[in-house]
Amino acid sequence: MIGSELANDLALAGHSVTLLDVASRPLEACVAEEQSRQLLQAWAGLPIEFFGGVQVATVTKVDQSKTVSMIDEEVGAQRGGHNALKQITTHCGKAWAVNHIVLAAGLQTPSRLARSAGLVWKSGIDVQPGTLSTRIDGIHALGDCVAINGRASRYIEPIGRQVRTLVASILGLPAVPYEETRVPVRVKTSSLPLTA
Ligand SMILES: Cc1cc2nc3c(=O)[nH]c(=O)nc-3n(C[C@H](O)[C@H](O)[C@H](O)COP(=O)(O)OP(=O)(O)OC[C@H]3O[C@@H](n4cnc5c(N)ncnc54)[C@H](O)[C@@H]3O)c2cc1C
Repeated sequence: MIGSELANDLALAGHSVTLLDVASRPLEACVAEEQSRQLLQAWAGLPIEFFGGVQVATVTKVDQSKTVSMIDEEVGAQRGGHNALKQITTHCGKAWAVNHIVLAAGLQTPSRLARSAGLVWKSGIDVQPGTLSTRIDGIHALGDCVAINGRASRYIEPIGRQVRTLVASILGLPAVPYEETRVPVRVKTSSLPLTA
């Protein structure tokens, strides 16, 4: 999602973007095939090339000593070498030489701290939807770190509702069970904003 948004903005600013994804189409995890197709159409006039179904294997620095002029080298050095060419390859054998790599590969919550406290981990801290309590008395959790029935919670909107559940549980007020709902997500791909 972030990768598609960034690629779109960078391309609108005139940068040449190569967008790689293990998924076969942009935003595959959150929008219908038709929406992905429309997005690719909206990108048609922009300098974005999308390659789906590819997995990055290596990133290596390219030795430019033989190919770059002295002036380019001087500019590169002044910029702290940030423009040095890198080669990016995929497991299927594709390769590109690029100036910059922006990684937007998502997040995976580390479980070490939760497990060390004896909490049950199921893609996140396992909490009861009725109370947001964990299996350890006196420990509640909410937000991105929790999972309900094995599904990780994400985004801002559910957190406000989780707060009400958690407060009622801690203060012994009448229960306000948290209900999981599918939250609309606004994908800010500027050429074609989408709601997932
Ligand atoms: C680039 C980006 C864009 C996003 N855009 C949207 C959006 O448009 N709409 C939307 O709904 N959501 C969006 N999200 C998701 C949203 O930001 C999260 O769902 C939300 O921030 C989760 O809140 P949280 O308090 O659970 O976790 P966080 O906001 O991640 O806060 C966790 C806090 O815990 C601290 N912490 C971690 N480990 C420890 C430790 N061991 N001890 C003490 N402190 C610790 C961290 O430093 C951090 O301050 C976006 C996220 C990102 C990264």
